[in-house]
Amino acid sequence: MNDDQTKEFLASLPELEEGKTYCFKCYPGIACFNACCSDLSLVLTPYDILRLRRALGMGSIDFLRQHTTMHMAPDTNFPEFHLRMTDSAAQNCAFVSEQGCAVYKDRPGACRMYPLGRATRPDGKGGVSEQFFIVREDHCKGFEEKDEWTGASWKQDQGFEAYTASNDRYMHILARIKQAGRPVPEKMGHLATLALYKLDEFQRFITQAQVFARLDVDEARQKDVLKNEEATLAFAMDWIELMLFHATPNLKPKR
Ligand code: SF4
Ligand code: SF4
Repeated sequence: MNDDQTKEFLASLPELEEGKTYCFKCYPGIACFNACCSDLSLVLTPYDILRLRRALGMGSIDFLRQHTTMHMAPDTNFPEFHLRMTDSAAQNCAFVSEQGCAVYKDRPGACRMYPLGRATRPDGKGGVSEQFFIVREDHCKGFEEKDEWTGASWKQDQGFEAYTASNDRYMHILARIKQAGRPVPEKMGHLATLALYKLDEFQRFITQAQVFARLDVDEARQKDVLKNEEATLAFAMDWIELMLFHATPNLKPKR
């Protein structure tokens, strides 16, 4: 599912309004354990890929080749990476095991939020407001349990907070492209693939192409960007936005 299909799907689901609760618990031993980890169409955000790659100790090229399928989204010309399912008859996720998710600490944001979906829209103050929707599937027995959650408490319990800033920033860039009403040039799509999804390669590119020479980036940030992939990704989003729209709050060209 691409971004627009996800929005349409969420809009068809019951909303979990602010302050309202639902009952849910998922644990090893529940009758349906692992039933939700196959035959998925799961889009990975740049931050999902950063976390999974790091957990697996893989270079970006190997990770993307082995664990994803990719196409360029026709409305943006930006890459869209899906988590690749195995070739087994059930089309299991490559990370599901009898004990559960083998990458649990670094599982993608969509897996964390399940059985909720989260949608965001600009709040007019530079941030986003969020809505939660309940994805109630027949096979999922977790709804028969007693633990009670709001959207906010579930998000916190599942460690989604760490994903919020990066994912929302990325959605903001996609929204700006869609607002502009035309896909980005092909070359920009390839640069976005490098900058957002191949952080190790992008770090090398920054040095080789002397990217900082044309930008107002202080020394501490430069060092961080070349060492710490969270900082690399934040810089990558600023850099892509600057090239696309010639203005972004956190990065300026040198005068
Ligand atoms: S189907 Fe629901 S309760 Fe069962 S393992 Fe998946 S999320 Fe947990
Ligand atoms: S990454 Fe983990 S939680 Fe997500 S589908 Fe795969 S096994 Fe399930």
